[in-house]
Amino acid sequence: MSKFENDIFFLVTVRPEEVRREKEKAAALRKTQWWQRQVGRGVCHYCGLPVNPKELTMDHVVPIIRGGRSTRGNVVPACKSCNNRKKYLLPLEWEDYLKGISTQKESMRQPTPQ
Ligand SMILES: [Zn+2]
Repeated sequence: MSKFENDIFFLVTVRPEEVRREKEKAAALRKTQWWQRQVGRGVCHYCGLPVNPKELTMDHVVPIIRGGRSTRGNVVPACKSCNNRKKYLLPLEWEDYLKGISTQKESMRQPTPQ
């Protein structure tokens, strides 16, 4: 077994029935007023850009397959582009992406003197 396969094996430790249960909880959470309020702000949790509330999707900060739960503390509104990035990037690459965003925000706040 290669190192990579080993990592995958290690990461996916959640049983299919638990994944199904968390997905059902997520569906129920989507119908709550609390979630409607989150989406109603119209801002992506990750990139901070204004997004049409209809375009915001529910994202698990810690993915269900990595043991994340469908709780208020673990779901955030995300725009499609952040959601897709998160899906396809490795966790480390995703962290780099988020760091890149916060650096951009930082440099917007403090423009470097010419
Ligand atoms: Zn975003």
